[in-house]
Order: sequence, then C-alpha cells, then structure tokens
Amino acid sequence: MKKMKWLRSLALACLLGLLLVGTALAQSAEYRLNVNRNFGYGGGKQIKGLFTLSVVGGPADDAITKVTYLLDGQEMAVKEQSPFDFQFQTESYPYGLHRLGARVETASGKVVEVAPREYEFATAEQESQAVTGILGPIGLIVIILMVIGGGSTLWTLRHKEENQRLPLGASRSYGFKGGAICPRCGRVYPLPWWSFNLLTHVYAQCSFCGKWAAVVPLRSREALDAAEKAELALADSQPVLKNHDGEAEKREQLEDSRYVDEV
Ligand SMILES: [Zn+2]
Repeated sequence: MKKMKWLRSLALACLLGLLLVGTALAQSAEYRLNVNRNFGYGGGKQIKGLFTLSVVGGPADDAITKVTYLLDGQEMAVKEQSPFDFQFQTESYPYGLHRLGARVETASGKVVEVAPREYEFATAEQESQAVTGILGPIGLIVIILMVIGGGSTLWTLRHKEENQRLPLGASRSYGFKGGAICPRCGRVYPLPWWSFNLLTHVYAQCSFCGKWAAVVPLRSREALDAAEKAELALADSQPVLKNHDGEAEKREQLEDSRYVDEV
C-alpha cells in the first residue's frame, strides 16, 4: 500500500515537472530579440558597426504595439510603429560587455521582457586584432607557396642543363604525380610532388625549358611511354644546324655587296 502511494506521488511530480518545463518553453518561444549586422564586424560575441535590433515571434492574435529596446536594462529606443526595428552604431555606446534586451507591449495590454543577449562592443583595435587573426594564417600560406614556387624554380634551373642532355625518347623515371608534356618544348617531364593541382590540370614547371604551365598529368606508364616516344618526332621538326663553311659564307657576302654596288 505504501509503495503505491509513493509511486503515485512520483508520477504527480513528473507531471508537474513536465508542465513547468512546458510553460517555460512556451514563454521563451514567445518573443526573441534578433541582432542583425548591417555593416561592420561580428566575431562570436564581439560586434562592431551598424546593427539592427528587432523582436520576432509571439502569439499571432496579440499584436505588438510598442517595443522598448534596452542596453543593460537602460532604455535605448522606443518604437511604437511597425516593424518596430531599431538601428544603432555600437560606437555610440561604451566599449565592453553589454546586455541587449527588449520590452514588448501588446494590444491586449501584456508587457513581456525578452530574454537578453550578451555582446561585447568591440574597439577598433579589437576588430583589427581579430582580422589579423584571420589574415595571419592566409599570409603564412601565401609565404609558404612563394617559398615552394621559388625553391622549385631554383631546383629546376639547377637541373635544366643536366636534363637537356637526356636524349629524345629516352626512358625516365617519374614521381607519384606522373609526368606531363611541356606545351613549349614538347618534352615529357616528371611532375614534382609540390606542383599545384588545379582540378583536371597540374600547374608545374618544365624541367627541360623552365616553362610554368597548367598541364594535363599523365599517370599511367603506357601514357608516359607513348609521350616519350612522341618526343622523337621533335628531332625532325627542330631546325638542323649545319656546319657552315666560314670561307664560303664570307665570299657570298662579298658577292652580294659587290652586286649592290654595281646597281
Ligand atoms: Zn619545356
């Protein structure tokens, strides 16, 4: 018998608890304060610039007639006309932590205090510090990319002559990124691991002529073999340097000038 009574009181307590939680939720869901940035800076609780305060939510059958915006409980502005928004500059108020709130009055005569929201009105120094905090890592990445770019150019230039001695069509080794055909000199060069991937292309520097270009990477051994074989065609298209007979050339020039003189 005693146990039953205890169970009943527990059930009652649970029901009461649910009711309390329910009403609390209904209350907080009634009106909310919106803080929208129009211009300026907002990082977490820190804000600086031009912002608009507005009240949202509330029962549809009880129209808002007046909104008093509050800063740390002190009146900031009174709005008695729809849309009851209030625009303000954070610089118009002291820097530091503030509680933004609103008091709503409705047609039925209800007065409701909206749950306040805490913000830190930032100074110009705080804003620039926050911006530097964001830009710092970007700057570091840019520097790293520049070092990689510069370093790879030096590396390529140091090995250029050595590379150029590699006969056309000769087999060569490639890294895990494979190789590519240079659009300038037509030779197949290995793509270094630090070359930049651009979706379907790779931005890399030719190790034969030093040309930077976005090239299509060749990854399969078959494609690379075919590209190496294709280099042989370059031998035919390149101008053949003939050994000129110096004496003959001089004579030709002399004859040319004489011809011109006679005319
Ligand atoms: Zn090249």
